Amino acid sequence: MSDQNKEIAVGIDIGGTNSRYGIVTGTGEVLKHDRFPTRSYPKAEGFVRAISRKIKDLLKDYEDYTFKGIGIGAPNGNYFRGTIEQAPNLGWKGVIPFVDQFKKYFNERVVLTNDANAAAIGEMMFGGAREMKNFIVITLGTGLGSGLVVNGDLVYGHDGFAGELGHTFVYLDQGRKCGCGRRGCLETYASAQGIKRTVFELMSESVKSSELRNISFSEMTSEHIFHAAKNGDRIAKEAFDITGQYLGMKIADAVVHTSPEAIFLYGGLAKAGNLILNPTIKTFDDHVMNIFKGKVSILSSELNGKQGAILGAAALVWKKRK
Ligand SMILES: [Zn+2]
Repeated sequence: MSDQNKEIAVGIDIGGTNSRYGIVTGTGEVLKHDRFPTRSYPKAEGFVRAISRKIKDLLKDYEDYTFKGIGIGAPNGNYFRGTIEQAPNLGWKGVIPFVDQFKKYFNERVVLTNDANAAAIGEMMFGGAREMKNFIVITLGTGLGSGLVVNGDLVYGHDGFAGELGHTFVYLDQGRKCGCGRRGCLETYASAQGIKRTVFELMSESVKSSELRNISFSEMTSEHIFHAAKNGDRIAKEAFDITGQYLGMKIADAVVHTSPEAIFLYGGLAKAGNLILNPTIKTFDDHVMNIFKGKVSILSSELNGKQGAILGAAALVWKKRK
């Protein structure tokens, strides 16, 4: 058996503005990590060439380890084809053969998947889902992503895009406009952007004082809302409650499809802890179908605040190919 302490992989998390990458051991220790400016590269080829050079430099310091390969989590990443396809938040348009581009520089394994799927694999290898075969990871970033694990395997579906809970409806033909071109999708309510939209809606409907009134829409982050809520700001607390209600409602829907043991919330908004967990759990408990009551835990990801995106991407390298 190989010694996983002496194996390393590189995990890369592709983001619209910055990407993060790091060197991870087989036991989930991040030896080194850094960020890389995605936006500075109008073409994917240029980005891949530059980050590959960085990675090769970095690997020189770890020559006594066995380098196993590169795992990539990317928005609209397709595991089957190794492509990034029409990602709305990236400057690179169309279908990008990302894995093929990396293979020009590396002979080792290169694996790519959607960023939420990477988070789910990370949770399974290094986080709270280590003993679980059926669970869902929901990533609450700018948008809402989800990775579904059923019987120990990530669900990819026919075309590789299974698990888009962010684009299930909470309203039909009404509600907020979504980046996918439709209206009423869950991620327009339950995500960093979604809670911000809720805050502004609440502020326009009431005269309650709020520290958030002094922050413009473009400057406000979910951290501002989190801090305000912790200070007892009523608008901020109400915004978390509303966000949790939408999330709890759609988790009750999701559970019916895959019967998971647990749901993990990962990412910026999930760091708000009980502010988001409590209203989510309450709505879920009040509405989930009876046969599932008391059988599903809604938890904060164990990878929150631990370079989880890099860990998850690197974990892909060790996950057996199907
Ligand atoms: Zn949508």
